[in-house]
Amino acid sequence: MVELQSFNKNEKPSWCPGCGNFAISLATKKSISELNIKPKDSVLVSGVGCFAKLPYWIKSYGFVGLHGRSLPVAQGTKLANKKLTVIAYGGDGDGYGEGGNHFIHACRRNVNITYLVHNNSVFGLTTGQYSPTSKQGKVSKSSPLGAKESPLNPIALAISSGAKFVARGYAGDINHLTGLIKKAIQFEGFAFIDILQYCPSFGHDIKYYNERVYRLEDNFHDSSNKILALQKAFEIEENKNDRLAIGVFYKSQ
Ligand code: SF4
Repeated sequence: MVELQSFNKNEKPSWCPGCGNFAISLATKKSISELNIKPKDSVLVSGVGCFAKLPYWIKSYGFVGLHGRSLPVAQGTKLANKKLTVIAYGGDGDGYGEGGNHFIHACRRNVNITYLVHNNSVFGLTTGQYSPTSKQGKVSKSSPLGAKESPLNPIALAISSGAKFVARGYAGDINHLTGLIKKAIQFEGFAFIDILQYCPSFGHDIKYYNERVYRLEDNFHDSSNKILALQKAFEIEENKNDRLAIGVFYKSQ
């Protein structure tokens, strides 16, 4: 196994104390090292947002590009050199807002990359503007009367756009998230994980998620059934208790 320390750099991340990005960064390093992938064989691609600094602080090849544009760079990288393990990163603002169009067509195109979206339901870098996954009515500096739009459903959108590996992870459950990322990297095609990420500065804290998250694996979910996967994806819009399922919603090969 490639040592976890191989991916460490001397620079320290500048994320706020307690930010979920630390956990997602660690889960990325654990996944790659446990799959025996060397730093020189991995490429991490991001856009703009708090999450987007992640390639700065992991020793591998990296590219930090335009807002919402990690997917075209990541797909091009993979097409140019199929031996590389390519992971693209997005945020709920960056990836579902500015990069929404790229997301839909990456699901259809099925290039063999992994796409991890840090979903904290706010634009953290711009101090808590509401994002595409913020709840309707969310009050922020940019929406003093509350967000007007209903939130986007990333899992349902990915499945209906043709993605063949669709999952949700949680930054507060590193072992589970590491397992999901490993499965996504090993999947032969476009693999998407929406990751619930606590943002104690402007979004929900870890306690909020801990009270709501549950594992699909413990609930006999059949991830090979697209209709059941879509039903499960819409649970988030229907359930009154805000229960948040994590795990593989849909997988087809
Ligand atoms: Fe993390 Fe939120 Fe701070 Fe950004 S603002 S670094 S997402 S805690």
